[in-house]
Amino acid sequence: MAKKENTSKELKEKLFMNKKNAALIMSDADLKKCDKFCEGYKQFLDAAKTEREATAFIEKQAIAKGFVQFDKNAKYKAGDKIYYVNREKSVILAVIGKEPIEKGVNLLAAHIDSPRLDLKQNPLYEKDEVGYFKTHYYGGIKKYQWPTVPLSLHGVIVKADGTKITVSIGEDDNDPVFCVSDLLPHLASTQYKRPSTELIKGEELNIIIGSRPFKDDEGSELVKLNLMLILNEKYGITESDFLSAELEAVPAFKAKDIGFDRSLVGAYGQDDRVCAYTELMAILEAKAPKRTAVAILTDKEETGSDGNTGLRSAYLKYFISDLANCFGAKGRTVLTASKCLSADVNAAYDPTFPDVFEKRNSAVLNGGVCVTKYTGSRGKSGTSDASAEFVGEIRALLDKKKVIWQTGELGKIDIGGGGTVAAYIANLDVDTIDIGVPVLSMHAPFEITAKTDVYAAYKAFEAFINA
Ligand code: MN
Ligand code: MN
Repeated sequence: MAKKENTSKELKEKLFMNKKNAALIMSDADLKKCDKFCEGYKQFLDAAKTEREATAFIEKQAIAKGFVQFDKNAKYKAGDKIYYVNREKSVILAVIGKEPIEKGVNLLAAHIDSPRLDLKQNPLYEKDEVGYFKTHYYGGIKKYQWPTVPLSLHGVIVKADGTKITVSIGEDDNDPVFCVSDLLPHLASTQYKRPSTELIKGEELNIIIGSRPFKDDEGSELVKLNLMLILNEKYGITESDFLSAELEAVPAFKAKDIGFDRSLVGAYGQDDRVCAYTELMAILEAKAPKRTAVAILTDKEETGSDGNTGLRSAYLKYFISDLANCFGAKGRTVLTASKCLSADVNAAYDPTFPDVFEKRNSAVLNGGVCVTKYTGSRGKSGTSDASAEFVGEIRALLDKKKVIWQTGELGKIDIGGGGTVAAYIANLDVDTIDIGVPVLSMHAPFEITAKTDVYAAYKAFEAFINA
């Protein structure tokens, strides 16, 4: 029995879980650091809108911080910093720890691909004197959100002779942008009757790229001809070079503060570059941690992690094996003893759409970094479900390092759900748990995060690396 002099307020403080807005917990000095941190974050978002650009950005930052390319025949010692680039679309960074590698590594995994519109292999066409690119969307998008958004184009074109051309157009203020059109409301009465999943159909996500015909001549497809001429002059390509290209259309706008108080970040591709950036900043600063720290920035999460740059492939396992070899250890011994924070965003509770959330178990904006024991959908299907023991360990670590954190699952049980790369890493016999930043409007062209949550993610990854 509680002693009589205990008021209910005191008892509640002692016995109940207390949630508070991060901005109320943080000191003014910390809030300042948080806002400054997010300036760097916004620069990253603008500079690295695709997995290839993120890989190049990360490699450059790593080299500047003294990371060297991984050499599987080298000998490494505590404090050595290495990196490995997988096909220009994924990167692994590692800082060698003081403990023998057989004791396991601390893995951080985030993804650097985001939903977008990919050009089809044969994309260029003209219809009724307007020039277009055909697209096939990448990842789970609400298709109706993508028309009337200014788009930039990023990627590579590999010519028949093997030369590779890098494309990035639409980001510079002087660049043109591209756009998918939508029907005017005046003529949309039939369109409105479509089911909302088909409000805009996949084959209607056609990007307008021009409208002036080739002059002083007669014949068909003169707009297309004029466009191909421009592309030939600019990139030295012909139409068949699109066959071996990877061109990705993404929103052209830049990352911005949202709100009079500038408390939020609005930008394209925060899923999952918010965890990629925070993870990167944490490992770049690591100095001979106790356990070897490994940060994976991977591709292909949004399409299910298949393919040789996604985490269902063996590239992580091979890297760990090769690294273990450098110390005369076995890769499988290292993996079994390893721990992983699978860093990916989660849905933030949206006060405008409360019905899809179970509030007690949802992450909120400014609630801190979100730790998720299990993901999946309808009966936890597809989850790796972290053990109570491992959740306990991570919880104790975050509390000890005063990281602001919360828990949350992705919406109500029967409404939907989703997965991350956690399962694929856990399947390698690694203790794995999901952690990440809550996001509003996830997978939309303009996603929203809270700066305090971004900073809390960084502090969590820093704590984990130095645990
Ligand atoms: Mn994600
Ligand atoms: Mn996603």
